[in-house]
Amino acid sequence: MTLTDRLIREIDARRDDLIALTQDLLRIPTLNPPGENYREICDYLDRRFQGAGFETELVRAFGTPGDSDKYPRWNLIARREGSRSGECMHFNSHVDVVDIGQGWTRDPFGGELVDGKIYGRGSCDMKGGLAASIVAAEAFLAVCPEFSGAVEISATADEESGGYGGVAYLAEKGYFDPERVQHVIIPEPFNKNRICLGHRGVWWAEVETFGEIAHGSMPFLGDCAIRHMGAVLEEMEKSLFPVLAQKQTEMPVIPEGARQSTLNINSIHGGQVEGDASFTGLPSPCVPDTCRMIIDRRFLLEEDIEDVQAEIRQIFETVKSRRNSFQYEIRELHRVLPTMTEMDAPVVRTVARAIEETFGQKAEYVVSPGTYDQKHVDRIGKLKNCIAYGPGILDLAHKPDEYVGVEDMLDCAKVMGRSLIELLAKP
Ligand SMILES: [Zn+2]
Repeated sequence: MTLTDRLIREIDARRDDLIALTQDLLRIPTLNPPGENYREICDYLDRRFQGAGFETELVRAFGTPGDSDKYPRWNLIARREGSRSGECMHFNSHVDVVDIGQGWTRDPFGGELVDGKIYGRGSCDMKGGLAASIVAAEAFLAVCPEFSGAVEISATADEESGGYGGVAYLAEKGYFDPERVQHVIIPEPFNKNRICLGHRGVWWAEVETFGEIAHGSMPFLGDCAIRHMGAVLEEMEKSLFPVLAQKQTEMPVIPEGARQSTLNINSIHGGQVEGDASFTGLPSPCVPDTCRMIIDRRFLLEEDIEDVQAEIRQIFETVKSRRNSFQYEIRELHRVLPTMTEMDAPVVRTVARAIEETFGQKAEYVVSPGTYDQKHVDRIGKLKNCIAYGPGILDLAHKPDEYVGVEDMLDCAKVMGRSLIELLAKP
């Protein structure tokens, strides 16, 4: 029996363990915001990894956004050294999950198993992927105790809120230094036959128009900031959205609608601040002197962030040239540059071969419409050999009745295990 045959048998034998592990992880509600139970889930995983012979390290991301004694940002890194020098394969999963929202017919933190699907918030995004990588690593260690290099698994905080208390922090501390880690797989849910090479870029900005307050019965004595913003929106409809739709990318972004530049108007606020629900009074009549809007621009590898910014500024300048007294400000809130790992990078080639051997068909290459922790591995860690590969259907992420399929997790674990064999089972 070959090493790979033994690995496959070992993974199949761990089916019940994989289910139980996934259920345990789902039953620890790690909601973010605010960032609950990070320590609890790290402690649970710590016991598991120590039992499997890993060295573990608990790292709190002190002082990062959201970190407090009430909601500390804990991360866990588990590493098992081989018996010879070689390369390190790292699996990184975020343990935080988003708000449950409405519409669930299953217990969001129950880990119910029905017809081969495990339900729960975070099942597909991405505790199922974390569980699959753990079982893959443990099965690999069982069949190949004498390997070269190292296997590393991290469970990190805050991916859903930017990853600053998680992967970004670890990358800054050197955990993703290319000297230390050579291959990274992030088991985000992109389907078991797909390799996600990277993501589009993000530019968030708050834009504001200004006017002058006056009595609402005599609006001509003031200057309405909301009408100014209305003119901006009209200009965007006319000369920005059609232009964005024309900007197509060579990146294989899925879904196809995202294979172009996009802009979302995230929110708009003008005039008086709305009272909370308990306030029963009426507003007072005023001309609004400010209107703020948050825009979320997603851009492509083919675009420069400076051009993305200039394009928005041009919209405001065009409106300004037509409207007396028009004043505005643009403030950047957040930026992430697009990233895409080369198709011939070692981790891509290895996982592609493992997919082909496991399913008898070629791997599909995709790029994510939104960002994930690869941005920090790439930009801060300077490690380019990174992909996302994991079980589950991306469309289910953040939805009610989110689930992950047991078969999918097993299949992904086999692909991960085969990749470990290819990279670390060298004599
Ligand atoms: Zn995720």
